Amino acid sequence: MMNDVYVALGSNIGDRQSFLDSALKEIDRLEGTHVEKISSIYETEPVGYKDQEAFLNMVAKVQTVLSPNELLDKLQSIEHALKRTREIHWGPRTIDLDILLYNQENIQTEELKIPHPRMLDRGFVMIPLYELQPDLHFPHTDKNFSTIIEERIDKKGVNVWKRNNGGGGSGLFEN
Ligand code: ATP
Ligand code: CA
Ligand code: CA
Repeated sequence: MMNDVYVALGSNIGDRQSFLDSALKEIDRLEGTHVEKISSIYETEPVGYKDQEAFLNMVAKVQTVLSPNELLDKLQSIEHALKRTREIHWGPRTIDLDILLYNQENIQTEELKIPHPRMLDRGFVMIPLYELQPDLHFPHTDKNFSTIIEERIDKKGVNVWKRNNGGGGSGLFEN
């Protein structure tokens, strides 16, 4: 069965766009997995640990036969292959891949929490996600997406860096 998943990508070290591009290619190459569409790329001010470079952030809609845990495992392998290290909590990284939503599922385990617990407060996640799927329905809330964005998202510090002019899956990895 194909599952609809939204993945957040972020990078703030080195050639940030090429880390995003490489991660998308690797995700698309996973067994039974396809990157269906992607948001624009946004440049965003760091949140949490502020003494670091600006991030590039984006969101991808992914279809996969992989289970949530299998997908997390594969995404962590991709992070590892792209030289992700963990030194400072919320610190600089070549690539960060977070699962935001997996169908309408609610998963609360030690290793995996879906919906991603901090997504609703993060402009760098919600703004690209809204661009990608404005009609998205959030599990376990009646609020529609635009209300969430209006009521609780700080748009400051989240700016389009490279516009995705649509075109669906084709031309996904063009430069
Ligand atoms: P944040 O989760 O606040 O965005 P982070 O991305 O910097 O912080 P990481 O160091 O990348 O945090 O991940 C820590 C752990 O979070 C991972 O080892 C993973 O097991 C766990 N985790 C829980 N839920 C998720 C999720 N939905 N997507 C990705 N990782 C998750
Ligand atoms: Ca993260
Ligand atoms: Ca992460």
